[in-house]
Amino acid sequence: MHFVAVYGQIRGMKCSRPLFCAQTLLAMLFAAWSALAGAAELTGLSLSETGSDARAEFALSSPAEYKVFTLANPDRLVVDLHGSRLAAGYREVLPSGPVASVRTGSPSAGVLRVVFDLAAAVRPKTFLLTPAAGVGHRLVIELHADAAQSTAKTLQDVVPDTGRDVLIAVDAGHGGQDPGARGAKGTWEKQITLAVARELARQINAERGLKAILIRDGDQFIPLQQRYRKARDAQADLFVSIHADAFNKPSASGASVFVMSQRGASSEAARWLADRENAADLVGGVTLDDKDNTLAKVLLDLSQSATMKASEDIAENVLVALKRVVKTHKPQVERANFVVLRSPDVPSLLVETAFISNPAEESKLNDPLHRQRLSAAILAGVRNYFNARPLPGTWLATQQARQRASEHLVSRGDTLSGIANRHGVSVASLRQENRLQSDVLRIGQRLRIPALASAGAASVAAVGMGSPSPR
Ligand SMILES: [Zn+2]
Repeated sequence: MHFVAVYGQIRGMKCSRPLFCAQTLLAMLFAAWSALAGAAELTGLSLSETGSDARAEFALSSPAEYKVFTLANPDRLVVDLHGSRLAAGYREVLPSGPVASVRTGSPSAGVLRVVFDLAAAVRPKTFLLTPAAGVGHRLVIELHADAAQSTAKTLQDVVPDTGRDVLIAVDAGHGGQDPGARGAKGTWEKQITLAVARELARQINAERGLKAILIRDGDQFIPLQQRYRKARDAQADLFVSIHADAFNKPSASGASVFVMSQRGASSEAARWLADRENAADLVGGVTLDDKDNTLAKVLLDLSQSATMKASEDIAENVLVALKRVVKTHKPQVERANFVVLRSPDVPSLLVETAFISNPAEESKLNDPLHRQRLSAAILAGVRNYFNARPLPGTWLATQQARQRASEHLVSRGDTLSGIANRHGVSVASLRQENRLQSDVLRIGQRLRIPALASAGAASVAAVGMGSPSPR
């Protein structure tokens, strides 16, 4: 038996970036969450499925050191939690998706072992969620159907189907003792913002390559500074705050999208500059303590202006998408010095979904179908941005690389047989894949490269035919 070990490193307090397990039949992931506290208790384990994939969520009373590995014949996924034990109220979890059964035990003193018996091999993806919105420490393991088991082999396989999710922090405005604005029919803004935020998060999580965290998922009060700090601690790629507008004239209507104003940004930069230690992680860990004020300011400005540019681009995309489903209050993205938009390194925007003070719009905000459309538009804008500028290391970026790998851009001197040779496929399969009527190629034409598995059988015949070279 051999196995490949993958070690995850967690930087300081920011520990929620997904860690990756390579596609090995037997992968092991070991991560020290933090200095070990006292015995952690496994208070709950939940299992959910989406198609052939599943997601296991471990609820822990405190951080724990853990190890995840897979075993074959029969396929199992094993999770060892060190210095841990089952909580008194722990309930057995029911099997779901690829998980046939779940067992718990203790292979050695102080180690709590959870074994998932599997119907098929899986590729585990593990990450930690820091306590947020009333939920404690969680260890999440996504069980992805093992693609390596499929026999189809294409050029795309060269580019692995991996990459982290783009993490989007969704902030429902107001909450708890701060109810926000009130509609004529008595709807509180805090109810609407939570309903929209939950719907938006649901839609984000339904999309491969994107993942949402809710800054609040209940009726609680969270101070404004804490909202964007939560997004930063989770290393979110985007922060979206959801609100509903109010005005003293009930006729005011339409949705708005806001980004941080220049004045707000400048005062924020001054604040960060005053706290050099805090500012260090804004500029890639460069210590600012020993830099003079001017240099420190330049470094901060660079980081902040890149963030603001991204915020503006995303806000623009969201506004365009919103215009297709709702009336907008102003034709352009607006600027304001909102506290929640102050993250100097997480692109941030605030969406006023409508005027709750307008009775017609208040009714719409109370309609789940309308909230679905609204959320779909916000997501469309966000998706559009991240597709156009995929962040390095994300699944979206890998997908684009795979897309490129499966295409051939015809250039001068290319012949069909030459292209077929270079990509290791048959001329016949190239013709078939691209529905070519003749072998004449245009410069700049994009040819899809077929999967090798389907091309294999045809290759002998194609060589025999000796395809003519048009150029
Ligand atoms: Zn508000």
